[in-house]
Amino acid sequence: MNHQTKVARRTLLRKALAASAVIPLAGIPIILRADDHRVDEAHPSAVALGYRHDAADVDTQKFPARATPEGKKQFCSNCKLYQSGSDGWGGCAIFPGKQVKGMGWCGAWISS
Ligand code: SF4
Repeated sequence: MNHQTKVARRTLLRKALAASAVIPLAGIPIILRADDHRVDEAHPSAVALGYRHDAADVDTQKFPARATPEGKKQFCSNCKLYQSGSDGWGGCAIFPGKQVKGMGWCGAWISS
């Protein structure tokens, strides 16, 4: 085996090791991204609108409309801005690129 062949084998081995180290790490962001598309309740826009994944958790002191008999029937799933998705989550025009929970609510709720 000449010197050039040894260098080529070493380079190939190094690249294979590097690739095998990257592949398992590449899976982590995919797993973490599973919830990444959902609205973060702590995001300033969500807080400003009182958005909660569970409408029962809405602060009715700040958003009294949710405590009225009519308000208690309001959920993202029956809001005009809700775009039904899967697993009880869907899109919302207020939060582009994010999903809200069908059983959620925010102060921008609009009758459909
Ligand atoms: S606008 Fe409607 S669908 Fe969007 S978060 Fe508020 S209540 Fe839910």
